[in-house]
Amino acid sequence: WKHAPENLRLLVQFARGHGGRLATIHEDERVTFEAQHRAIAALAAALAARGVGKGDRVAICMRNLPEWVVAFFAVVSLGAIAVPLNAWWTGAELAYGLADSEARLLVADAERWQRIAPHRAELAGLETVLVARADAAPAGTERLEDLIGTPGDWAGLADTPLPDTPVAADDDATIFYTSGTTGHPKGALGTHRNLVTNIFSGAYAGARSFLRRGEAPPEPAPKVGLLVIPLFHVTACSASLMGAMAAGNTTIFMRRWDALEAMRIIERERVNVTGGVPTIAWQLIEHPERGRFDLSSLEAISYGGAPSAPELVRRIFEEFGALPGNGWGMTETMATVTSHIAEDYLHRPDSAGPPVPVAELQIRGADGITVLPPGEIGELWAKGPQIVKAYWRKPEATAETFVDGWVRTGDLARLDEEGFLFIVDRAKDIIIRGGENIYSIEVENALYEHPAVTDAALVGIPHRTLGEEPAAVVHLAPGTSAGEAELQDWVRARLAPFKVPVRIVFSGETLPRNANGKILKRHLKALFA
Ligand code: ATP
Ligand code: MG
Repeated sequence: WKHAPENLRLLVQFARGHGGRLATIHEDERVTFEAQHRAIAALAAALAARGVGKGDRVAICMRNLPEWVVAFFAVVSLGAIAVPLNAWWTGAELAYGLADSEARLLVADAERWQRIAPHRAELAGLETVLVARADAAPAGTERLEDLIGTPGDWAGLADTPLPDTPVAADDDATIFYTSGTTGHPKGALGTHRNLVTNIFSGAYAGARSFLRRGEAPPEPAPKVGLLVIPLFHVTACSASLMGAMAAGNTTIFMRRWDALEAMRIIERERVNVTGGVPTIAWQLIEHPERGRFDLSSLEAISYGGAPSAPELVRRIFEEFGALPGNGWGMTETMATVTSHIAEDYLHRPDSAGPPVPVAELQIRGADGITVLPPGEIGELWAKGPQIVKAYWRKPEATAETFVDGWVRTGDLARLDEEGFLFIVDRAKDIIIRGGENIYSIEVENALYEHPAVTDAALVGIPHRTLGEEPAAVVHLAPGTSAGEAELQDWVRARLAPFKVPVRIVFSGETLPRNANGKILKRHLKALFA
């Protein structure tokens, strides 16, 4: 944190200095920063030998593995552009990502390569495929292990420097795809500067509450983090991973999210920080076996990327003694724009926090020009060095979204007098009932206040004369019960009558979400239809 670099190549070189500390833990594979650096340098040399250079796109498609981190940093150290693909995508979706980004080279795990292989013929520009965790090289590919060995071999690799390539802060570094919640995923083209900005924002967030009390923040000590969200999402890569490389934090990967397994790992590895998306915290809170585990090492549970109930803030603090944290951001802002932690968050649990110092926020009216005063709801616009300059090869969408250094976010929000951000809805999710605006987050939060409700989504259902009416889908904590009329009364006691869901449907499972923790409201609407 004290040595924030100006580009990712310098970050890689600096992170080598964390030496024997563990960089990643994946099952029984423990990789030190030094071993990780050897693997990054070896892979960068192998990629350079295969012709990868400045501006070339290299796609990465793996679940969270030590190889993901090595591939990412090898690519960006060469000045090439890393294209992290969504590991949940189908073969056809992955082929779209590869074709759209015109990737020359792909690093994939064996499982994902199996999905992509049937589409190989459509991918003329894809010259080289490196497959990780394959027993034998599938036809037309090379095994990653044949170039750099397995994570267990990395400590024994030669200690070579990175290939010599100049990299500047404003060089392109990444193409991350948006989550596709509101339409087809768009590639956001990010620079080295966009990514390293998160290191400064992380340092600020860690120190803020001390500085505001007039105290010196403690020396930053390396932390152990349990990463439960996918690395192809900006929150995990730009915020968690950049911070870990800078601070020497250990990152633990899970094969897939499972609350019980997470608690085992937290106890065994003395995990200090976890989170990612609000659902993770809810599932830990409501897990019947939580009492069996010593989770006292947890210092912070933070999340972002999706609306979270104010109720969660108190529950995290009371039940784990850990500090809750929230942050607002989007793929186009390369993660952190606001950061909300500690006392501030406990006192304003319905806010997404104040902007980090490098960001500016405005609420604008429907014309996209008028800046609205505090308290008024309008569209959120954001500006700062973390915001990407363009969508990859989408000039029209770029012109609509990126205006004079600002990004229009598509989120409806208000700011209070002190600059704290309150997200009220996505512009596309707002329900207009006979001319009255219903912001889904407000109604969802009222539902969350009910002790039995642990997951809730409000959607608009068509109505002949009113246009739309609100309806809700909820999931109840195991062992609790509540009926439709009871929950309607509950909302009626808290909000204006027109906001009360006309139908409430109970889901036996938590609500369907995409890989980034966002409820798939389009699916829920279809369910009502
Ligand atoms: P697409 O743009 O493809 O439809 P997406 O907007 O869901 O997908 P992301 O970039 O992953 O893709 O998500 C950004 C969105 O997530 C924001 O516009 C906002 O609606 C939501 N979001 C992020 N952080 C928060 C937060 N802390 N509170 C509420 N909503 C949040
Ligand atoms: Mg979006």
